[in-house]
Amino acid sequence: MAGGVRQALSIVLLAACAATAHAQEDDRTWRVRPGEALSVIAARFSVTVEELREWNTLEGDRILPGQELVVREPDAEEGLTHRVARGETLSGIAVDHDTTIERLQELNPDIDPERLREGQVLRVDDLGERLRIDYVVRRGDNLSRIAARHRVTLEQLRRWNPRVRGDDLRFGSTLRIYSEVPASTSESIGRPHHGRLANAEQLPQHPGYYLRDRRRAYGTLETILWIQDGVDAVLQRFPESPQLRVHDLSNREGGRMRDHRSHQSGRDVDISFYQARCPNGICPMRNLGPEDLDAERQWALFEAWLKSDQVELILMDHSLQRPLYEEARRRGATRAQLERWFQYPRSRHDRQGIIRHYPRHRNHAHVRFVCPDTDESCR
Ligand SMILES: [Zn+2]
Repeated sequence: MAGGVRQALSIVLLAACAATAHAQEDDRTWRVRPGEALSVIAARFSVTVEELREWNTLEGDRILPGQELVVREPDAEEGLTHRVARGETLSGIAVDHDTTIERLQELNPDIDPERLREGQVLRVDDLGERLRIDYVVRRGDNLSRIAARHRVTLEQLRRWNPRVRGDDLRFGSTLRIYSEVPASTSESIGRPHHGRLANAEQLPQHPGYYLRDRRRAYGTLETILWIQDGVDAVLQRFPESPQLRVHDLSNREGGRMRDHRSHQSGRDVDISFYQARCPNGICPMRNLGPEDLDAERQWALFEAWLKSDQVELILMDHSLQRPLYEEARRRGATRAQLERWFQYPRSRHDRQGIIRHYPRHRNHAHVRFVCPDTDESCR
């Protein structure tokens, strides 16, 4: 009878383990969307292209829409260092960290393998080719952005910088980062009206929008990620949403673009509005009255960008600002936020507010993202 109980118990435990493993697996995989590049997926999950290749045994950069990719480290990483606990041996630590005694001795030439002291700190990670970066925190920085830019995980960043608590970063303080890339590779140079773009990323297709012309859809890495993050935020709250129409961003190298005066430095995008009626599931670029705007979805999009300080300007007709303003208030925006975010209820000539009037913007919003912190010549 005791045997029966034990057996029943182990079945329950097995079932529990299986459930956990399954949950983790879902969190670790990503289904490739049409047109999505490996580099964009890597940046989204703060990992490197190299890691994605390794975890998915990919040879080159070729991936297919619908393909399921492992996007997080398959094994929980202990960290760069290991603090020796009472009674631990070097061989035991080697096994735990999936390495060899020889490698640990190489990384820690000063230790006596026979006599590990409790509390002693050993290097256990092989940083390989990674660059050591002492990154100085700039105004407006946050941890996720720094992690994404250096293609490391948030967990790694926290482990390397144990003094950082929560998301609180002190301006001017230094973070230690071990990265395979010196910085985000894309660069916005000069001004939106007179500038260019280097190492541009291309906006991939996405279930949340329809992309008119991929050849005119280049931006900084940050612009590309933030557009998708914003639309993802809408889809998360409203899974049944029509697609927006995304028109021009920038040319591959930036610079002058037909039909636009700005759009030169990879930070601008023209995008249709969510509307009460979007025929065939795509919201067209047509002139709207305030009653035509789907303020709930539109605000969900703008709010995602505004709350994380990713946009510096949103141009749209003054008449369409009111329904958005009221939705923002319903959703709990503070007086200070409303004042900073909206030109409305001030007049269309007022020069304050991120959301601001501009002629001929009754059929689309022109969104300008902020300069990436690392792009020194971005204006
Ligand atoms: Zn525009």
